[in-house]
Amino acid sequence: MAASYISRLAAIHGLDISHLWVQVTEREASGGMRRVVVPEKLAALTGRDIHDLAGAMPELRDPQPNWAMFRHQPQVGCHLCDAKYPGGVVTRLLPHHRYVCVRHRTWIGPPDINGNAADLSLLPAVVNAQRRHLRLMRRRGWALTFDAVLTGFMICGHIWNSPSRSEATDIRHIWEARALILIPPDEEVGFTYLNYSTSKLFAAVYPQAVEIAILLASPYWRRAADHRHPGRDRFFEEMSRRITYPYSDDPGSSDAIAHWSDTFAWRPPSRPMRTHSPARSTGIVPPASETQLKRDLNSGFHFASKRRVGSTLLRHNHIRPVIAREWNQKHGRIDEAIERTRRFDAAFRVEAALERAEFGHYLLALRTAHEASKKGRREGVDAELEVSFPP
Ligand SMILES: [Zn+2]
Repeated sequence: MAASYISRLAAIHGLDISHLWVQVTEREASGGMRRVVVPEKLAALTGRDIHDLAGAMPELRDPQPNWAMFRHQPQVGCHLCDAKYPGGVVTRLLPHHRYVCVRHRTWIGPPDINGNAADLSLLPAVVNAQRRHLRLMRRRGWALTFDAVLTGFMICGHIWNSPSRSEATDIRHIWEARALILIPPDEEVGFTYLNYSTSKLFAAVYPQAVEIAILLASPYWRRAADHRHPGRDRFFEEMSRRITYPYSDDPGSSDAIAHWSDTFAWRPPSRPMRTHSPARSTGIVPPASETQLKRDLNSGFHFASKRRVGSTLLRHNHIRPVIAREWNQKHGRIDEAIERTRRFDAAFRVEAALERAEFGHYLLALRTAHEASKKGRREGVDAELEVSFPP
């Protein structure tokens, strides 16, 4: 983050930050009042190579990176990585697929009000999940991976929330054990959880969220999950191989996995709700609002009473893009939106089928584009062959 870098630069050299800021920035090209950093000026001032600076600060790159790949606001990263930088708090703009610092084995996770990254040295599965997550990203691209991992978190939230828990092998026992390692009770103050942070609950389910995501991002399994496909049962079987499923003795009319396969398997991935805008960024992590603090305190109590922590995950802003999907924002209240993500009754299936019919033009356009590009590739290859083997 250039803004974070410049403020630390000013702090180290005892300079006035706003003066320094004016020196290295100019008014944004659109003619607005905001200022954007000029890489050449920053390079001249620091005596560092412009490419080195752009390597550390994506907003200095030209052309600009695809901001949709990044979280929309800066956050603190791994405190062990950042310990070597003097001059104050380092803020970073992390891409969506960064949850763990693999080198230091720390959980960076979704931004949370509780500062430092959590230690994962007792939880190698969580560190390993980050590696698998990166592999998935390289294989399927950021957009599918983003949607699939958030959906994975959402499904884990529903599973953690569901009441029945018959078997000893139930995945929730593992989640609870992980959560207790990350958020140990403070016995001296009567078993309250001073280290509570919802971000750490995401860490507890992260390995399973990635496990599910690998399935959800696969074009093969997406096709199989489609309710019109004869392979649907195999999709559910594969799901249950990876996670406790069915996760309720009587799923009845609510089942987040069945809901997903009816409603989302055939859709393009959901996109982030907000995108980072470099000219608007101050590089400062916004202070937690009153509501956030209250929500965190409430979630802490909820965690202490050990009931259905899944709802805390489901309500966290981090997975909002897969709760209130972009084409479906008419469902205003969050409880309704959450409830909707597991609906599986007959009326709902009719609704989903109608939506799908409406959506048909998109699928058709996608198929045409796909075929055109395949044809183009084939013709390209043929043309090349002709070039290399003239008649
Ligand atoms: Zn680190």
